[in-house]
Amino acid sequence: MSEGPYSSLNLATHVKDDERSVVQNRRLFLDALSLGDFSSRLVVPHQAHGDTVMQVSGDFDRNDVSIEHEADAVVCDGFDIPVMLCFADCAPVMVVAPSGAFAVIHAGWRGALAGIVGKAVDELARVSSCDPSGFNVYIGPHIGPCCYEVPQKRIDAFVDAYGPSCDAGDRHLSLSAAIRADVQSHGVVASRIAQADSCTAESVGEFFSFRAENGLCGRHGALACRIKG
Ligand SMILES: [Zn+2]
Repeated sequence: MSEGPYSSLNLATHVKDDERSVVQNRRLFLDALSLGDFSSRLVVPHQAHGDTVMQVSGDFDRNDVSIEHEADAVVCDGFDIPVMLCFADCAPVMVVAPSGAFAVIHAGWRGALAGIVGKAVDELARVSSCDPSGFNVYIGPHIGPCCYEVPQKRIDAFVDAYGPSCDAGDRHLSLSAAIRADVQSHGVVASRIAQADSCTAESVGEFFSFRAENGLCGRHGALACRIKG
């Protein structure tokens, strides 16, 4: 429903798009996933590029959580609660425990460097009582090392935190290498990590890209929901 730079399926309310369009877009998205019945329970935290992990449980009441709740990761062990975070270049990460509990994580460079992905893995392990060695991790489309030039000191900070694989050369940063290293240091096994190949900055017809669209664009979403039988 959105137009201009937000065309066509912008899912975020914080980007100056018409809020009525965003509400309709979210509804279309949920309907496409056969989750329309749960639209009133949709959880979309206010993302702040921080390391706050929010927990949503089975006794979740929509009135408890508003868009004002600030978090960049949501761990959910409840049923029929769609959880969505929004992206334009930052990395969406999904983690699923054998119990069905899951985490949706927004990892840009600030959050990744602050360790939000490993923190969410720890929280999911606590909430689900499952060992992280059984977790499945999916790293969604984000800006690839091909297009992600950053200051050298930021590369250095990532290499210090997560090892040399973060340095893609010529001042280019690999967010996915950092995320892989982080989850593995928290007990996830490498064979259970899957990753999308797309670079958002090179696929603006398919995804929104903050860099490639000079900061004026919508946000795509990463959504998970655990369905009761
Ligand atoms: Zn690229």
